[in-house]
Amino acid sequence: MLAQRTALFKSSGTAAARTAAKAAAASGKDIVDLTAGEIWSDLAPSVRNGAIAAINRNLNRYTDTVGLLELRHALAGKISADTAQPWSTDEIAVTNGAKQALFNAAMALLNPGDEVLIPVPYWTTFPAQIVVAGGTPVFIETRNSNYVPRLTDLAAAVTSKTKAIVVNTPNNPTGTIYDRDTLAGVAQLAIDRDFWIIFDECYGAFAHAPHTHDSIISVAPQARDRTLIVNSFSKSLALTGWRIGYLAGPKTVISAVKALQSHTTSNPNVIAQHALLHHLESGDPVFQLQLQRQVTNARALGLSILSALTLVPTPAAQGGFYFYLDLTELQRRANRTGRKSNPDDIVNALLMDAGVATVSGTAFGDPAGVRLSYGIDLESLDKGLRRLTAALNTWN
Ligand code: PLP
Repeated sequence: MLAQRTALFKSSGTAAARTAAKAAAASGKDIVDLTAGEIWSDLAPSVRNGAIAAINRNLNRYTDTVGLLELRHALAGKISADTAQPWSTDEIAVTNGAKQALFNAAMALLNPGDEVLIPVPYWTTFPAQIVVAGGTPVFIETRNSNYVPRLTDLAAAVTSKTKAIVVNTPNNPTGTIYDRDTLAGVAQLAIDRDFWIIFDECYGAFAHAPHTHDSIISVAPQARDRTLIVNSFSKSLALTGWRIGYLAGPKTVISAVKALQSHTTSNPNVIAQHALLHHLESGDPVFQLQLQRQVTNARALGLSILSALTLVPTPAAQGGFYFYLDLTELQRRANRTGRKSNPDDIVNALLMDAGVATVSGTAFGDPAGVRLSYGIDLESLDKGLRRLTAALNTWN
């Protein structure tokens, strides 16, 4: 018999969508895969050179549990620039991607029954990890407020058990960026009602003008001692497979995380750490600028195609690399004409009839959305979005 805990979670909905896309392609169908949570790109030269140099130096040992001191030093410089506040190495833990940073945060903060506010739609892993850590997710609807939580809704959901809020901006899946007023309001609420802010800024490198991404700490420095920053290089440098992320916050939390990580994964991979260190020390912005340009171009192409959708508003796509489609009107029409209108059915029809793989909003707690990634090459994106637009426009 398995532990009862295993009933609390299932495999991530985004992974399931990727698997369905691969299965359809393996059966011989021509599939354009818009499910990926990563950017199609070569490896950054600075990362490659740093990794090769580390291998040539024969590096093969454990490092400090929460990462090489030099890497944490370099990260302290980065986080100081991001937040306009000084940071020290003992306020930072290097982790196996942002996912482990989030898991560490949940394990270090939550007691059984503690509540964590999560705006919906949410990235699928947030509630899963909170439940595994013994907490209770409290979902805050954002669909009637442009996918940004209303402060009044957040305030109304706070109870004596509220321990934290997850703030993810730029947001996966919705592509929205929380503006400074929203961040200031969330920070003030956390201070007034005494809870933590888990600030996931994994997509912070991709803010599409005129939108800008701000650290909640730079907006509200007074919230720093109750904020945990979660970030990684998975998206910003297209390094999903290298598994380097970090958690930054008060020393007491980082010290607890260090103890936890010493019993779980120990340090992140030594070669990957040196590769990132080399990248940060080289200070070469060229690769990241190229990646940002690539994402900007893909967004522009995608928005021009999606503007032809008749029953679906053109998505905001303020940050990150996802288009999030609001299917409400399309579902209303489908209901009238007796067509299937659940997003899972729509995603399945797009896959089987139009050859486009997407992720259903149900993976993100939303019964009226579909997520499309534009992290892929332009030719495939063009083909996939044209197919999708043509297919959805027949839902009339
Ligand atoms: N946070 C968000 C919002 C994400 O979308 C993802 C990955 O998709 C992660 C964290 C995890 O990133 P990593 O690959 O660095 O673990």
